[in-house]
This record gives sequence, C-alpha cells and structure tokens, in this order.
Amino acid sequence: MLNVNQLSVRYGHHQALRSVALNVNPAEIVVILGANGAGKTTLLKSLGGLVTMDNDSQVKMNQFDLGKLPPHQIVESGLALVPEGRGIFGDLTVRENLKLGAYPKRARAHEEKHYKEVLELFPRLEERLDQVARTMSGGEQQMVAIGRALMSAPEVLLLDEPSLGLSPLFVGELFKALERIKDNGVGVLLVEQNAVKSLEIADRAYVLENGAVVASGDAEQMRTDKAVQDAYLGAA
Ligand code: ATP
Repeated sequence: MLNVNQLSVRYGHHQALRSVALNVNPAEIVVILGANGAGKTTLLKSLGGLVTMDNDSQVKMNQFDLGKLPPHQIVESGLALVPEGRGIFGDLTVRENLKLGAYPKRARAHEEKHYKEVLELFPRLEERLDQVARTMSGGEQQMVAIGRALMSAPEVLLLDEPSLGLSPLFVGELFKALERIKDNGVGVLLVEQNAVKSLEIADRAYVLENGAVVASGDAEQMRTDKAVQDAYLGAA
C-alpha cells in the first residue's frame, strides 16, 4: 500500500531526511519514534505533499507516485494527514469540519456512511455537531481532526503527535479509537512522543535519528530492545 523505498528531503543545505525506507500495510499501526529534530514531522509532511521531497525519492501509495502529486491529489491516492496542531477550521462547526473532509472525489459517493462511522467512533462529536470547533477542548479538537481525515476515506492515516497536550484520559480514548480505525482495515502511521503508550498499540515501529532510519521491527521486539529502552522508554 504505502511503499517508501527512498525518501530524502532538504531544507536548503540541511538534509532533514536521508534515504528513508518504510512501508505501511492495511490494518496495522506503525509508529515512528525519534528525538526532537530527528525528522518525524518532515517525514509526514513530505508524504502529505506539504514539503517537497528530493527528485530521486521513490514513494508510492498504491499505484501513485507521491513525489509527482500536489497535496489534493495525494488525498485522492488514499493518504490523509492529521498535522501537528490539528489543522481544523476553528470558526466552523464540528458538522461543517467533518463534511469538508468528504470533499475528495474518492469520498463523495459514501459520505453518509463515513459520517455515520465517524460519529460511532467518536460519540462525543455527535453530541456537539453544532459547536464551533475552536471552543472545544484539545482532545475534542483532535477527534474532529481525525474524524475529518477519516471522511476522506483514507487507506493510510498519517498522524503527527496526536496525544500532544491531551489529558491521560483523552490519550487512552484516542489510542482506543486508533485501534478501531486499524480494525476497520486502515493503515495508521503514527508519530508520537509517548513511546511507551504508542508501542502498546503499534504492530511495528521505526526509529529515526538525524533523518535516517536506524532501527525497525515488531513493536514487541522494540519494547524490549535495550537501545530503544534507553533512548525512548526511560527506565522501562
Ligand atoms: P520534533 O519532535 O521536535 O517536532 P521532528 O523529529 O518532527 O522533531 P522535524 O520537525 O521534522 O523533526 O525537523 C527535522 C530537522 O529539519 C530539524 O533539524 C529542523 O530544525 C529542520 N527543519 C524543519 N523544518 C524546517 C524548515 N521549514 N526549514 C529549515 N529547517 C527545518
């Protein structure tokens, strides 16, 4: 599905990603771990078409060559990005935000079905459909952002630090929702500071260091790996 064979990104002279290779399959959660500045956000932004990848990058979503597509066509390939800071429309209601998510052609025919599924996934949103998004709590806004992305009928959902700033209760709810999204067949690529918790729900993980993948494997194996424990899991 999402096949990244070689992905490099530069900001001027600074090389932020170096020949990154990874893949995401249907119905799995893949987590990207890495210190601040390792390139995690750059990775998601380049997949979403928000920063330009080097010409020799080889990145495919199904049959689409992502390096050659503008962001709106990337959504049509089946990728949806929930950026850090969420990127929802604060002045619009929850309902309007969700409906806007169904704008891509791939999503229009089944808009009602996806809308129902999103409200089942996040019942709290159903109670607040007419609320203006910016008046919601951080956790609720994150639900709107994920719901909006799901309205575009993605096969792979990209999430940048979704738990940032949320209370532990909301983080638990959020991670349960991600498991349900996976159970519906969607591949989830997750960038998370919360390494311990994200490895609990992940199937596989990659570790980024200075823009390069330095380790990868089953989440279970990563949880018990000494180097990963020392660097990302504290005293676990
Ligand atoms: P964090 O967890 O702190 O957000 P990250 O792993 O997501 O870190 P990135 O934000 O992808 O890291 O940044 C990777 C590197 O690229 C950093 O050295 C950063 O300073 C640099 N960088 C990011 N965006 C830009 C930009 N627009 N222009 C120049 N350099 C940038």
